[in-house]
Amino acid sequence: MTRQYIDLHVHTNASDGIMSPAQVVEAALDKKLRAIAITDHDTTDGFVEAADLAGGKDIELVAGVELSCSYMGNDVHILGYLMDYRNPEFVKTIRKFREERYVRGKAMVAKLNDLGINLSMETVSAIAGNAAMGRPHIADALLREEFVQTYDEAFARYLGYHAPAYVPKKHFEVEHAINILHLIGGVAVLAHPGTLGHDEYIPTFIEMGLDGVEAYHALHDKKLVDHYKLITKKHGLIYTGGSDCHGPRKGKLLIGSMHVPYECLESIRKRIEAR
Ligand code: AMP
Ligand code: FE
Ligand code: FE
Ligand code: ZN
Repeated sequence: MTRQYIDLHVHTNASDGIMSPAQVVEAALDKKLRAIAITDHDTTDGFVEAADLAGGKDIELVAGVELSCSYMGNDVHILGYLMDYRNPEFVKTIRKFREERYVRGKAMVAKLNDLGINLSMETVSAIAGNAAMGRPHIADALLREEFVQTYDEAFARYLGYHAPAYVPKKHFEVEHAINILHLIGGVAVLAHPGTLGHDEYIPTFIEMGLDGVEAYHALHDKKLVDHYKLITKKHGLIYTGGSDCHGPRKGKLLIGSMHVPYECLESIRKRIEAR
């Protein structure tokens, strides 16, 4: 039987995943995936490295990114695919996102210090390396320094949306993200709408130019997958899918687990060609 599955949502340690681009490519080959998209938060460094490594190997690497936006006070993640990731305007924009992530990381560490948690920014930076800094790096630092016993405890006690050391990311408009992805030839897809929990935003995002919705996702059960496929059918959008694998941080390696059909990648290409 020919391989048909793909995974259009994978993180590397260029953002808050824990696998290097090389480890991700190896895992994808191991799972016999036909294509993967590296969709790191606000950076394409991991994709570039993985695409180099995958050259000549039996797998397709799709350019991707997951842009951190906000709408009506909610975190909204916009996935970009097949965009010209070398475009200078785009490079400048995501660099700004990353700089803001670092400033926000410092603000969260300051809040932790105010709470009596003696965590230093050096520890967090050592864990994040050159990556786009995120709460998972701070959670890992809290775990390493034994301020918490588990990764989840770090979110429950300190870093979760309603926890005392949480600092929101700087406001970046969904419309801006969609526009820039279109300008550089890519598509814009709403990531994991099930975790966003505001389907009523979707018509507004469509007016802004949204191309698709991520139907398959590790946090969507079968009912939700079907629900989002139906929504895309109703609105003439494409649907995509992926595991949102961040590496085996919680013991489970998700890459390839969603059995996303290759047709999802073809529908992205068709959408771009039809413009
Ligand atoms: P950030 O982009 O810095 O706000 O971090 C968001 C990332 O943190 C998500 O992509 C998840 O990987 C992780 N995350 C967010 N909330 C939780 C939670 N409650 N438990 C575990 N991981 C979480
Ligand atoms: Fe993440
Ligand atoms: Fe996300
Ligand atoms: Zn993600």
